[in-house]
Amino acid sequence: MYFPSLTRLKDYEVEYELIVRFDLWLSKLSGSQRKGIRPARFASDERIDYNIANELFALAAFKIKLLHANYEVYCPYCTHELVKVFSDIDEIPEKLKCNECGKFFNPYEFDEYIEITFDLLVQPDPDGFPKIKNKLKTNVFGSISSIKSSSKRSSFSVQELLISPLGKEEIEAKLFIPDWQAYNVAYNRFILSLADGVSTEEKGKALEAISCLILSFITFFRVDSTVHTLTNQIDVTVTVRPYFKYIEIPLLRVIKRRLLCECKNEDENVPSIWVDKLAAGIDKVDNCKVGIIFSRHKFSGDDLKHAKASQIEHARLNKYILNFPKTDFDLVHNNQCNILNFLDDKFEELEMRIARRASTVL
Ligand SMILES: [Zn+2]
Repeated sequence: MYFPSLTRLKDYEVEYELIVRFDLWLSKLSGSQRKGIRPARFASDERIDYNIANELFALAAFKIKLLHANYEVYCPYCTHELVKVFSDIDEIPEKLKCNECGKFFNPYEFDEYIEITFDLLVQPDPDGFPKIKNKLKTNVFGSISSIKSSSKRSSFSVQELLISPLGKEEIEAKLFIPDWQAYNVAYNRFILSLADGVSTEEKGKALEAISCLILSFITFFRVDSTVHTLTNQIDVTVTVRPYFKYIEIPLLRVIKRRLLCECKNEDENVPSIWVDKLAAGIDKVDNCKVGIIFSRHKFSGDDLKHAKASQIEHARLNKYILNFPKTDFDLVHNNQCNILNFLDDKFEELEMRIARRASTVL
């Protein structure tokens, strides 16, 4: 193989023969041909389906890292006018000006005009062929075609990528970037803070530190704990990325632009009054509908009933107060969970409770 890493494509059920053709085709590119490669060129040279070529290139970029994806934004008004090339999807702005026609547009509203091309990152290994044994499955074209072309165009649009499972995985990988080593440190500090004799200040700070940390793993949250240090409140600003429209994040349906969190590292159970207090706090903040109470204990006893009732009352008014107790920190510690999915689940559970309540009332 000229590019030995391509053998890993067999993990994605790409048939051996296709891998070898792809390998050979890439090895023949030289100089500037290695930049801005269009999968359609490979498809027409090798007479294979455009969708298969698109998926092959996407796998080689996002899974194998042999290629790098470029996002070429074309003007939707004057056809074929290249406005700008971006090397990361996060860099594409919501407003761009075409220098040809002078019109402004939001690239994401015309995502079929964002074309993906690829740069080859690695030089071919001149004496690296042939190496792998021909013992691969043969029926593979069927399983590789999860990227469906929405148009007859031969270009590979960002729309086609992002609606495919591979594209969704790429987006999800951008949303949650944990640092488990830092989490272990913060978790141990939090556990130590639960002991008798630890100062109230340290208890508060230990819980606040671990809460800020897990929120910071969610890349579209900007965490600010400096504003309300006296009350152990954490203020979170949410940056909604345009490509979120391709994926389902239940929390984003209600989260708006702000999130308010309260840390309560106290010996007692979580009193229901905190739910009401946080809900009242949320009212004073623009564009804020969700609050999280990070605490040592869960809601329990009579307070559990009241707190849950308050949660539902507030949720009916579109204010969602979630609880994240120590047992959740334990779960995250033991399973290295995706915090975003974890919060989504909590939110969905609350929504289900509202629905159940509504149906029993009816
Ligand atoms: Zn234009």
